[in-house]
Amino acid sequence: MNSKIWLSSPHMGGHEQKFIQQAFDENWVAPLGPNVNGFEEDLKDYIKEDKHVAALSAGTAAIHLALIMLGVKQGDFVICQSMTFSASANPIMYQGAHPVFVDSETRTWNICPTDLIDAIEGTIKKHGVKPKAIIGVHLYGMPYLADEINAIAKKYDIPVIEDAAEALGSNFKGQNCGTLGKYGILSFNGNKIITTSGGGALVCNTEKEKQRAVFFATQSRDQAPHYQHSEVGYNYRMSNITAGIGRGQMMVLDSHVQARRKNYDFYKESLGHLPGFEFVDEPEGVFSNRWLSTVLIHPEKAGFTREDLRLALEKENIETRPLWKPMHLQPIFKDCDYYGIDVAENLFEIGLCLPSGSNLTDQDRQRILNGILKLVK
Ligand SMILES: *Cc1c(COP(=O)(O)O)cnc(C)c1O
Repeated sequence: MNSKIWLSSPHMGGHEQKFIQQAFDENWVAPLGPNVNGFEEDLKDYIKEDKHVAALSAGTAAIHLALIMLGVKQGDFVICQSMTFSASANPIMYQGAHPVFVDSETRTWNICPTDLIDAIEGTIKKHGVKPKAIIGVHLYGMPYLADEINAIAKKYDIPVIEDAAEALGSNFKGQNCGTLGKYGILSFNGNKIITTSGGGALVCNTEKEKQRAVFFATQSRDQAPHYQHSEVGYNYRMSNITAGIGRGQMMVLDSHVQARRKNYDFYKESLGHLPGFEFVDEPEGVFSNRWLSTVLIHPEKAGFTREDLRLALEKENIETRPLWKPMHLQPIFKDCDYYGIDVAENLFEIGLCLPSGSNLTDQDRQRILNGILKLVK
């Protein structure tokens, strides 16, 4: 049996263990320390725009803290892109608030501006209150239509939480993803473009907001020699060990972006001309890190479905995955409000994520291509 080709596996650059060794040498084996500060500085320098970054235990924790900092409470409504990973929406539930899901547009597969307006107006009409926040997601590294989304958010005066978990290294008209909203969130989970084995970050506009996030992330300790608390706290800070991995990974982030974009170019060049295969290009002015390469399979033209393709590659020991199943179709969210038609649902039906690791070799790519071509014939 050929070795397994993964959808997206961790890819170490070689400098990570040096930072971890240093943490051990200095006994900074704790959820604070020089690597945490250093990783935050590295991220801040990378994304620019004079932001302030709090390193956390997960991207999910970052979304949760963003909601808390925006004052989202029980019974509130929060708009969220439907086509996404459940981690975008779950923190809304942690706060006892109601997600309101919005369909995608076809250019970037992200939150649709016209459906967003419908969702805001609809929520005001149906529930008599304005949504407290809008969560937009840069799926697979492709930035959402930030100009339009931000204009709508501004018009209605609703803050945007930018879920850039998949989009570190992407930019919208030259401005880095993670810096486009009121708060930005990043993830360093094992399958992301860089990983700390698990981790995330909250990107803030001011140092004060960052310090507030760190306060919540470290059990909301008041200023006192003893343990004193006036607010509910969380254990969400990143550890100095995992931050060491992050510091090493920052050194290879740009080369990971290049490698992932190379995967996409390879798939598009090798398959884009075949009947029923569709690849989605970047809109003007937008740069995607191509975290995952995705393809749409139109079965009536291709002669097979995306599921046929997925199973054929599975037989070859090659991992692929359908696109995110929209949240409004998930059993847990079935009673939530939804605005849109069937764009996200269609994408889910016909879309497939192809192996996209920055560590794929030419040989791996050839094996994947051969596996796909067997089905095409
Ligand atoms: C990975 C991911 C998250 C969550 O990040 P974790 O670090 O795994 O908690 C959130 N949103 C999206 C879109 C993601 O892909």
